[in-house]
Amino acid sequence: MLIEENKSLKKYNTFGIDCAARFFVSVSSKTALIKALKSNVHPNIFILGGGSNMLLTKDVDALVIHINFKGINIISEDDNYVHLSVMGGENWHEFVQYCIEKDYGGLENLSLIPGNVGTAPLQNIGAYGVELKDVLKSCQGISIDDFSEKEFSNKECQFGYRNSIFKNALKGKYIITEIKVKLTKNNHKKNIGYGVIQQELAKMNIKEPSLREISETIIKIRQSKLPDPNVIGNSGSFFKNPIVNRGVFENFIKQYPKAPFYVISETEIKVPAGWLIEKAGFKGKRFGDAGVHEKQALVLVYHGNATGNEILELADKIKKSVKEQFGITIIPEVNII
Ligand SMILES: Cc1cc2nc3c(=O)[nH]c(=O)nc-3n(C[C@H](O)[C@H](O)[C@H](O)COP(=O)(O)OP(=O)(O)OC[C@H]3O[C@@H](n4cnc5c(N)ncnc54)[C@H](O)[C@@H]3O)c2cc1C
Repeated sequence: MLIEENKSLKKYNTFGIDCAARFFVSVSSKTALIKALKSNVHPNIFILGGGSNMLLTKDVDALVIHINFKGINIISEDDNYVHLSVMGGENWHEFVQYCIEKDYGGLENLSLIPGNVGTAPLQNIGAYGVELKDVLKSCQGISIDDFSEKEFSNKECQFGYRNSIFKNALKGKYIITEIKVKLTKNNHKKNIGYGVIQQELAKMNIKEPSLREISETIIKIRQSKLPDPNVIGNSGSFFKNPIVNRGVFENFIKQYPKAPFYVISETEIKVPAGWLIEKAGFKGKRFGDAGVHEKQALVLVYHGNATGNEILELADKIKKSVKEQFGITIIPEVNII
């Protein structure tokens, strides 16, 4: 097991920010993970997946453990369903493409989301009307405190919108090593209700899309809207879409009757954070080397020499401005380190 010292994390985060790990080790098995946890080289442990949901604002004074163990296995299958177990270090998009190849349905709308499989339960990744929770049966975690292993059922994960128990009561307590999902082998439940998906399929004259066609459509939409982290540093949506109560919403919609919104329940309404940020005048703006993407106001971008703190300052400026103008609080989806 090679433990490196003062290792640059520039290549390991999609913002491309050059902060260093005090100690760094890449683990390619659960055994190596436990060995690293027991190594005692540093009292603090920091888990790193694909680095696509973090903003590094300082060097990481910890043993950074990069999760790199792979494997996709069939646990059981019948004519209708397949149960798969997938190791935490698999790349999410490659796993989705494996499912498309095999014609396993359920994950096609989650194509092209960066990051590791093991990180996906943390924020219950989601896109275009589908969330991980829709297919996840359970996930396996290793306790950072006593190295014991525990299986968390879907219910125990307490999934919510970009949320789970691993971001709340169990934050920093468990390392997700493996997930188990149930996918369809036929009679796929296709989720193509989103307007933009409908429009793209109509352009291609496709009425009954295959899983592959759905995946390709999603990829096309995402590539046209979201910046590629290999070209410009970013972490996808920087903020969550705020969910507001009826009172706040009524005030807001009276002032902005044309604003888009999505009713979740009698009392909860979701407002697109991208719309709020754009209306507050930030879309496409650049402040030094920190900026707001010109096509998608929800994405903050890194132009090369900004520090994580400059991005954070911009995020705070946006948050303050949105609150003042609309009376709505937006909070980061990205993990600030
Ligand atoms: C261009 C772009 C588009 C994106 N689009 C979407 C989208 O559509 N939907 C969506 O939901 N997200 C999206 N994201 C966000 C991101 O891809 C997901 O949140 C992804 O699951 C993060 O995985 P990661 O391995 O890169 O996490 P990392 O950034 O490596 O880690 C994130 C956090 O999880 C912790 N962590 C990492 N691995 C583990 C583990 N195995 N066990 C416990 N803790 C762990 C880390 O310590 C850190 O706090 C996007 C990001 C980018 C850059």
